Amino acid sequence: MKHVHDITDGFEDISVNRTLTEVRDAMWYGGGISENLPRENKHPNHLTQENNLPMAYWNADSGFNCLDTVVGSVIEDGWTHHIPRLMVLGNIASLLDVNPRQLTDWFHAAFIDAYDWVVEPNVLGMGTFALGESMMTKPYISGAAYINRMSDYCKECQFDPKKNCPITNLYWDFISRHSESFNGNHRMAIPLRNSLRRDEEMKNFDRQTFEAWIQRLCKSP
Ligand code: SF4
Repeated sequence: MKHVHDITDGFEDISVNRTLTEVRDAMWYGGGISENLPRENKHPNHLTQENNLPMAYWNADSGFNCLDTVVGSVIEDGWTHHIPRLMVLGNIASLLDVNPRQLTDWFHAAFIDAYDWVVEPNVLGMGTFALGESMMTKPYISGAAYINRMSDYCKECQFDPKKNCPITNLYWDFISRHSESFNGNHRMAIPLRNSLRRDEEMKNFDRQTFEAWIQRLCKSP
């Protein structure tokens, strides 16, 4: 990780899709406006994800017990294990199309081990797929079944991972929304095929779920 980060000058030298990021500092100042960080730079954003980081990453209640529990532990300890970072923090931000640089800024602000060479490969590369296939073979995303299998968060959640958890609908809509980006990626072939098998009613519900949750989490003050 460190060597890739070093020889690419912090991914400046990698040719990937890039976008401007207006909101910096992970909203550390409450509104995301600080004069200290350059806003003219374009940052890796393979999937062109442009939603704002939810305030749930600063301990506002999201309603997702997995996210709220992990964020609470990060706020308390300044740290959490690699798997909650990927499976919960990176996964849910990806499913909500949160801007990868905003999420990376949050990791810089929230974690005590936030060295550039740790955060940038792990968040831009692994957690969000912002570097595309130059670093990972596929996005690290999952629905509720995987989170339920790998953790205890679902036992105390208002949602049922087998019946009505929105994370699963967000997962399917992510695959459908970004399907063109995954054409030719053999590691995404099965999820893409399964996504195509979902009937139109389910696909519409997946999209409505995505729109409702970005409205609730990413567009609310
Ligand atoms: S049911 Fe599980 S995966 Fe779904 S929001 Fe709750 S804790 Fe997260």
